[in-house]
Amino acid sequence: MKKILVGTHNKGKFKEISYLISNKYKKISPILLKIKSPKETGKTFIANSRLKVKFFSKYVDYPVISDDSGLCIKALNNKPGIYSARLAKRHGSFLKAMKFILKKMQTKKNRSAFFICSLSYYDENGKITSVEGKLMGNISMNIRGTNGFGYDPIFIPLKKRITFGQMLKSKKIKMDHRFIAFQKLKKKIKTL
Ligand code: IMP
Repeated sequence: MKKILVGTHNKGKFKEISYLISNKYKKISPILLKIKSPKETGKTFIANSRLKVKFFSKYVDYPVISDDSGLCIKALNNKPGIYSARLAKRHGSFLKAMKFILKKMQTKKNRSAFFICSLSYYDENGKITSVEGKLMGNISMNIRGTNGFGYDPIFIPLKKRITFGQMLKSKKIKMDHRFIAFQKLKKKIKTL
């Protein structure tokens, strides 16, 4: 069976990305191989996803896929953006980071936001293919739902009334920013 390294330590992301990839591939986690994460020194989502695949590719001789994703809120100058994971780390948990965001949003009229995902794929020959997927939505007034991961409980996708935290995982996985990015990648890398 062919192998692919799904280069992320985030269990939520690992599950989502693995679900999207054909079951012809055995999905390997860096946790299993005891590989740590690289430092995210890039200034953009694309730069960080490329940096991640390049880093993980040094440890294996099969393809690697990595994402860099985050939540961008219009009224907060597109923050936390590439710092989405680091914001939660700084506050001690996603729950605390979401409370922090909701407090900042109290005075804002515009609650428009988007989730963005840059996916990079590193093939056996060292060629990197990168794509980006974006999903528009709004920040909810409060924390709602316990499904999903990260900022899911405060993000309401456009044309929906519930947050990703309230949505069935099976539904979220077929419409989110990672799914959109993956469809683009699949057009370029047919074997996925
Ligand atoms: P990074 O790509 O490892 O830098 O992490 C991105 C951050 O954005 C993580 O902390 C995620 O929890 C958050 N994030 C990315 N995608 C999603 C999502 O689909 N739902 C909720 N949070 C997400």
